[in-house]
Amino acid sequence: MTLDVAWAIDWVRRSAATVKEHREELIELDRQIGDGDHGENLNRGFTAVVGKLDALESPPGDVGEVLKLVATTLMSTVGGAAGPLYGTAYLRAAKAAAVPELDANGVVAMLEAALEGIVARGKATTGEKTMVDAWTPATEAAVAAADEGAAPAAVLAAAADAATRGAESTIPLVATKGRASYLGERSAGHLDPGARSTELILHAAAEAAQ
Ligand code: ADP
Ligand code: MG
Ligand code: MG
Repeated sequence: MTLDVAWAIDWVRRSAATVKEHREELIELDRQIGDGDHGENLNRGFTAVVGKLDALESPPGDVGEVLKLVATTLMSTVGGAAGPLYGTAYLRAAKAAAVPELDANGVVAMLEAALEGIVARGKATTGEKTMVDAWTPATEAAVAAADEGAAPAAVLAAAADAATRGAESTIPLVATKGRASYLGERSAGHLDPGARSTELILHAAAEAAQ
């Protein structure tokens, strides 16, 4: 089984839906260690993405085209730290997924490219209380699942579950990157909003593949 353009479009729509559903939660998480705009920023961005998808005159030709639309739209509508970070992630992912269908290794390549984009843009490593703490275990779990011969849907499910654990792991951490780092030790004891939104987006990818 492979993941095609219809999966990519479903992933985007499910991402928009879950971000909308968790908008208040993401705002509240960001209020605790940031400026409280993460839920609003992402909801605005993904709502714009869905609007652009709906307005397309011809369907996207491959998975990469869908992801490129997400990238350019998030970059121009989200702002803050998350706009350029997610924008770069989707742009790199689009290049890695410029094919009609993704097999398990294709899914891994897409996730690895997204993580590389985030790291290239934000210069964070694991343990700094950012979305990197969700993306890194997610990518590692995807590699391990693909190596064991898992199908693309199972690779995404493994990535999503690892992202959940990665997001949870940010709670005790002290932030050393981004706005939360201004709080120093006081940032400990809170879930990082970008790690939480990463978890939501990767679960949307896995659900679209079911
Ligand atoms: P802002 O802080 O500009 O208001 P958002 O609230 O939209 O931006 O996004 C905040 C999230 O961005 C954080 O929770 C964190 O996960 C992520 N983030 C911030 N800086 C970095 C960085 N340098 N590298 C990776 N992720 C980062
Ligand atoms: Mg913010
Ligand atoms: Mg902000």
